[in-house]
Amino acid sequence: MTTPTAHALPSYIDPSHPGPWGMFMEQLDRVEPHLGPLAQWVETLRRPKRMLIVDVPVRMDDGRIEHFEGYRVQHNLSRGPGKGGVRFHPQVHISEVMALAGWMTVKNAAVNLPYGGAKGGIRVDPSRLSLAELERMTRRYTSEIGLLIGPDRDIPAPDVNTNEQVMAWMMDTYSINQGGTQTGVVTGKPLSMGGSLGRRDATGRGCFVVAREAMKRLNRPMEGARVAIQGFGNVGNAAARVFHEHGAKIVAVQDVGGTIYNEAGIDPHALQHHLKVAEGALREFPGGTVIDDASFWGVDCDILLPAALERQITEANAYQIKAKLVVEGANGPTTPQAEDILWDMGCTVLPDVLANAGGVTVSYFEWVQNASSFFWTEQDINMRLDRVLSEAFEPIWNVAQEKRVHLRTAAFIAACTRVLEARALRGLYP
Ligand code: NAD
Repeated sequence: MTTPTAHALPSYIDPSHPGPWGMFMEQLDRVEPHLGPLAQWVETLRRPKRMLIVDVPVRMDDGRIEHFEGYRVQHNLSRGPGKGGVRFHPQVHISEVMALAGWMTVKNAAVNLPYGGAKGGIRVDPSRLSLAELERMTRRYTSEIGLLIGPDRDIPAPDVNTNEQVMAWMMDTYSINQGGTQTGVVTGKPLSMGGSLGRRDATGRGCFVVAREAMKRLNRPMEGARVAIQGFGNVGNAAARVFHEHGAKIVAVQDVGGTIYNEAGIDPHALQHHLKVAEGALREFPGGTVIDDASFWGVDCDILLPAALERQITEANAYQIKAKLVVEGANGPTTPQAEDILWDMGCTVLPDVLANAGGVTVSYFEWVQNASSFFWTEQDINMRLDRVLSEAFEPIWNVAQEKRVHLRTAAFIAACTRVLEARALRGLYP
């Protein structure tokens, strides 16, 4: 157990409720003793480099004007332009966006992509908006954060409740303001306007790749492995299909509307069809039995894949977990205290900064393809994705074994060393 960070928090973070940023601070506290002389620069990571809070006024369909709060945080730019998604959610707040940006710094460095870390969002319940309102909000937000973003400065991508269409509007708005088409300003775009093959499933596929590598080292077969997934959106849905293709069995799925269980396995293709095409609710899916939400965490399974929101695995439910491997598809789903409990229980946690790095890796491929206007095949992309993640996995696993630390700490050691080496070499200006 570590105590909460003893370091000063920025004045805009309430010390009694530091939220996700407090969690990121605790993770940095754990890595600091392993950084050697570079530790003198670690304070840089405790302060986001740049944050923009914008007012997003939107004319609603009924003529009223509503105001939404929008954010873009660039946590660190030492290794390259900012990179990170945009989230539309009613609970988005500055502490969350800061932490998500910090995790992007670590994630990009952990898999050695030439990016810094950034994140953005709007505090809104998008399900309340019509398509036209959503478009106007996205365009105004893009214009407002236009001060910071750009293909060589900071490149947004989809996150919770944002998708290819939102990226298309963002790209179009930025391009109009710049006076020329700039495909490289966002990733996760539709294929017809410079998107990359393989991007849609990349995060879920990446979850599988790192889980496969971990299962090999834990001497456990993937064939027949029972998987429980929280969230059936971009990440959870793709992960379910890829695990299923490789012989694993999806035994439980939870989304915002409920939880289903099937010991014999849930067909993720049928579930996807039920939710997306037939527009059914998860609870009405005939291929599973409804169970109560709280019992999801205690489901008998080998792999648990949280792919919804942060702070889902806590001291309150960690003891119930039966899985031997937790694969963090979501960002920040496990609190540091819960991670300690899982460690004591012999459960391996594949941290978000590695487990869900597949999305940003293919985003990087998309950006490279946009810069060269030369596009790769899906096979090529999946192969390169597999290589990037497997190569990142190996040293992180080895450091965790050697130093007897959590894989998250090992990933933070690898990543923070890269970031702070760049920071030290660049030096201070003036
Ligand atoms: P999404 O909006 O497509 O899907 C979110 C899913 O979570 C939905 O199925 C929703 O029903 C479910 N959900 C929401 N609240 C829930 C709750 N309280 N309980 C149970 N389920 C709930 O989002 P996504 O893009 O799949 O992102 C999921 C997570 O993965 C986020 O933490 C995101 O930051 C992270 N992530 C996403 C990507 C990506 O490429 N999309 C990449 C890296 C990390």
